[in-house]
Amino acid sequence: MPTLRLVLGDQLSMSLSSLVDWQEGDTILMCEVMEEARYVPHHKKKLAFIFSAMRHFRGALEADDKPVRYVKLDDQDNSGSFTGELERMLGEGDFDRVVITEPGEYRVMEMIHSWQDSLDVPVIVREDTRFFASLDRFERWADGKKQLRMEFFYREMRRETGHLMDGDKPEGGQWNFDKENRRKLPKDVTLPDRLRFEPDAITTEVLALVNDRFPDNFGDLEPFGMPVTRAQALEVLTHFIETCLPRFGDYQDAMAEGEAFLFHSTVSAAMNAGLLLASEVCEAAETAYQAGQAPLNAVEGFIRQILGWREYVRGLYWLKMPDYKGLNALEADRPLPDFYWTGKTDMACLADAISTTKQHAYAHHIQRLMITGNFALLAGIAPDAINEWYMVVYADAYEWVELPNTHGMAIYADGGIMASKPYAASGAYIDKMSDHCAGCRYKVKVKNSPEACPFNYLYWDFVMRNADKLKANPRMGMIYRSLERTSDERRVAIKNDAESFFENLYSEQIVV
Ligand code: FAD
Repeated sequence: MPTLRLVLGDQLSMSLSSLVDWQEGDTILMCEVMEEARYVPHHKKKLAFIFSAMRHFRGALEADDKPVRYVKLDDQDNSGSFTGELERMLGEGDFDRVVITEPGEYRVMEMIHSWQDSLDVPVIVREDTRFFASLDRFERWADGKKQLRMEFFYREMRRETGHLMDGDKPEGGQWNFDKENRRKLPKDVTLPDRLRFEPDAITTEVLALVNDRFPDNFGDLEPFGMPVTRAQALEVLTHFIETCLPRFGDYQDAMAEGEAFLFHSTVSAAMNAGLLLASEVCEAAETAYQAGQAPLNAVEGFIRQILGWREYVRGLYWLKMPDYKGLNALEADRPLPDFYWTGKTDMACLADAISTTKQHAYAHHIQRLMITGNFALLAGIAPDAINEWYMVVYADAYEWVELPNTHGMAIYADGGIMASKPYAASGAYIDKMSDHCAGCRYKVKVKNSPEACPFNYLYWDFVMRNADKLKANPRMGMIYRSLERTSDERRVAIKNDAESFFENLYSEQIVV
């Protein structure tokens, strides 16, 4: 039964479920199509990473004697869409069926379902076994629950996988060591160097392609040093385990001016594209703990991100889509300020997070959540606008992971499906966790007036503006009690400062 096996750009794993029963006579189809490259105007580095990783993966498959029909973006006959390429291939060959692993995005799943009706051969969709929890498993966990809190799902995943378990008890007697993981970065700390990989001939060709076809997209294409093969991704993982993991926990929530990576792993893009498997990343961290090379707070914190958060957001995405994307619980409707693209703002923390993003197509979690995300939440940026920004700018962005993190965790557009309260913070939090405020034009200790840190009055403006929607939330009780004690005079000052801030913010930009 000759089978056509379609492998998508984020399915670059030899153990992929659509490849496991490969037989002589089968063909693997991989295609770079404009429809995918353009559905949002991706960061140039993200495009280069995916195309280069795809082309290298083709090489790995062929070296394993698996023939690949590979369609390059610039090939003359490239129809520009998955549907077009699949139809073309089926027209040329004699295939009995199409096999594909479930995609990472709802949009693509709908496309696949349409093939099941439109193509003459059966289209078989297989589970993506690269995740710990199948979508059915997550649905079973969620079934009947009023609240879908990550922490409880994570504990079940710990029990099920045996990661960091001591019999039926959590290793170290606690499930979570978060309280130990909130240290500010000391001034004298030495940060580890990061691995960079010189572009080879394949990557060089891709860099030229991206430069030529996507010259106006956001972000710096070069220097380019991302891992684009499994071997390189494994090197990054080993380097992280040896040099960063021991301090990953302590400084997990820290931020530092000009420092993009701190002790983070930088494996998300490789993992999401399939170059690394979540299971091997967690195993590597646990092995380091067992060998006494990394403390429990670091290893638990790291494994929780993958076994907990990563699995949970994927489950939630598929459980709640397609309605999830349209939610706008806080009725946010402000356009995205230009500085998200240019980085030109006097707020030092935002300028730094956006500059990192522009250079590396990367920012670490706290920058995404508590700087760019927090600003969008406080300012009331329209969900579609901020969701698209996060989809565009990060090399690890695919909707299954981007959307719940942005829509749910950062801007609370889902009204609390994901987070028990909005992750809103004033300048005091940013000052506590970073060194940005020292060099900022605005004064973090000043609450009102044009020289005050905008996060200060925007925070209270957010709290006042959303009182009818948030006041009943028990986790917001203390904040609203504090607001009740605030004088009318201060409330007016907050409103006025916020209004003039927004007037200036948009005065020089064309709002589209
Ligand atoms: P580390 O800090 O070293 O963490 C290890 C791994 O844990 C990551 O590689 C990632 O696979 C996983 N992880 C950590 N936090 C999360 C999380 N909240 N959700 C899912 N996985 C997590 N992650 C993406 O992979 N793609 C995205 O598009 C994305 N968008 C985000 C948008 C917002 C607004 C926020 C707040 C977070 C987003 N994240 C996203 C989650 C997280 O910020 C990134 O996974 C992380 O910063 C990647 O860097 P790292 O590999 O150095 O991670």
